[in-house]
Amino acid sequence: MASPELRRYSSEMIRESILAAGVLINGHFVFADGDHSFNKLEMDNLWDHPNQLALILHALAAAESLPEADVLIGVPSGGQRLVTTMHELGFDERPIAWLERIPDGRKQDFRFRAKADRELALSASSPRIIEDVVTTLSSVAGAVRLLRPDVQEIHALAIWRRGKAKPQYSTGFTAHYLIEEELPTYSPEECPVHRK
Ligand SMILES: [Zn+2]
Repeated sequence: MASPELRRYSSEMIRESILAAGVLINGHFVFADGDHSFNKLEMDNLWDHPNQLALILHALAAAESLPEADVLIGVPSGGQRLVTTMHELGFDERPIAWLERIPDGRKQDFRFRAKADRELALSASSPRIIEDVVTTLSSVAGAVRLLRPDVQEIHALAIWRRGKAKPQYSTGFTAHYLIEEELPTYSPEECPVHRK
């Protein structure tokens, strides 16, 4: 059990900071995968709120309940912005292995940006994948595909899990979240706005 001084941020503090930064937006949204929702999580808004951003990045860097990691991997592009800012603000100094989207690939198709990134990531005994928002875990699975779950202890840490992780995206690593609060999504046929 973490001591009180180690567990600096309660889940209430984290949630309050996120909401104070205006990240949770209400409306009617159609996502890239075709689903509709009345809630969108716009994590970029954190960067307009330095105090809330610092608290969230601190919480991600500290991640008291996770085993020690030796390399950080940000999922493009939200997770990468988080690890970059963690470095810039001096909250985390672990090396970063960079990924990039495969041009014309699917949303979760990634590759290492350079040979050095691949070598760094595969030499880690416990890489930690950072993501901002998770729905099915498909984006994290896209990063895990580039690693070696058979010999590496892989953990993923995201700010918010808003959906149910799909089993096919959940193998080879352990997932952790600062906030787990499901926000309903609907297929176009089920969406209450469009349903006749
Ligand atoms: Zn709709």
